[in-house]
Amino acid sequence: MCLHDHDAAVVHPAPGVVRRNVLAGAAALAGLSTASVLGAPAAEAASGDAPPAPRYHGRPARPGALLIVGGTMLDPLTGHVTPDAVVVLDEGVVAAAGTRDETRAAVARVAGRAQTIEVHGRWVLPGLVDVHVHVNALADARAVLRAGATTVRSGSSSFYQDVALRPLVDWAPGSVPRMRAAGVFVSPQLGDTVLADPALAPLAALAGGVRSTSDLAYLTRVNLSRGVDVVKTRANPRAGLPEQDPTELVYDREQIAAVVSAARGRGVLCHAYSEAGIDGAVRAGVRSIEHGVFVGDSTIDLMARRGTFFTPTTAAIVGLSESPNPVLAARGREYVPVLQAAIREAHARGVTVVAGTDSFGTDVDPIGVEVRLLIEAGLPRLDAVRAATTHAASLLGLTGQVGRLSRGHRADVVVVDTDPLQDDRALERVSLVVAQGVVARNEL
Ligand SMILES: [Zn+2]
Repeated sequence: MCLHDHDAAVVHPAPGVVRRNVLAGAAALAGLSTASVLGAPAAEAASGDAPPAPRYHGRPARPGALLIVGGTMLDPLTGHVTPDAVVVLDEGVVAAAGTRDETRAAVARVAGRAQTIEVHGRWVLPGLVDVHVHVNALADARAVLRAGATTVRSGSSSFYQDVALRPLVDWAPGSVPRMRAAGVFVSPQLGDTVLADPALAPLAALAGGVRSTSDLAYLTRVNLSRGVDVVKTRANPRAGLPEQDPTELVYDREQIAAVVSAARGRGVLCHAYSEAGIDGAVRAGVRSIEHGVFVGDSTIDLMARRGTFFTPTTAAIVGLSESPNPVLAARGREYVPVLQAAIREAHARGVTVVAGTDSFGTDVDPIGVEVRLLIEAGLPRLDAVRAATTHAASLLGLTGQVGRLSRGHRADVVVVDTDPLQDDRALERVSLVVAQGVVARNEL
């Protein structure tokens, strides 16, 4: 779990095209210097212009064919169960998934070149999604993947590692989860994260930190220039530090609205605990509330109307209650039942609850643990599975790509030993993880 400050993110330039080239091109069209686009002094830019990024001479990997045969397949969207199912993966996508009859033609097309994995007596699901993780190293990303999350949303990274991880799914399939990157945390104190990009230097010595709407917009734009998919900000302090009160306000509605506006349509995820903080963030237009312990009923109704997602990160709050620090343990024990009630109320009032662990570094809670905790809080089992599949895909803008095993979806699969519709702990331990068409874990 995290409960710490973390940060980072980037844009998706076309292969071989570098950010500075894109900016330089756009700047030339607009009659500006690259430096003025980046917000850096023009004189400095004259001496610091980078050469164009090199274009790599090779092509991304093309994963081969894989058959996953004989398991019971669950479709999280419909709840439909297919016994003795066959999943046909080829070139990184699902070529077919269904009964032996339904998949016969697709199986014939990969005959002679497909690897086959028998999973009789086990359950087959789409790769799971963890919508709140902090990965700053390859080992972190691998740990998250091996625990069953084949797609993640970053809750910020310290030096844009999440952005750099993103293309690895194409160049080194099976090594890391699919990434929706957030870049650096839009938060008052940058600390060492000021070193993540030269454009952050103007924010290094601000009295009181990054708080004005113009500075918040600037920091958000730096993230956008680095290619982030989403933006992470906050309404309240951390819960994981005993000296901080997570119900104080850090950013109000106007400040968060400046971030939402500068994010230009990218979803903003907002760390928030207090009712005032959550309400301001929802009214500012954030896409999801992270933690959200003290959300009130009227704000829940507002979230339902606006389609704001709720990521309770139950695993992190339960982790707080198990802290060796007595202040944090007491805080956790107070928060857990309040959060469980919030989850029940949100679900009952039509807010979409999604699964995020707030895992940090290699200290990873399997996403299946969060699914089990959502069930324990009161979600029906199928809805808890959806929180880590179809609902999470919807939040990440990946509907039609992840969260289901149907033709054309990404070749991400997990296999578990027990029935997820009967066993609350079914997804906690995965025996097989296939990511981007490649076996990332096999303990069958
Ligand atoms: Zn976090």
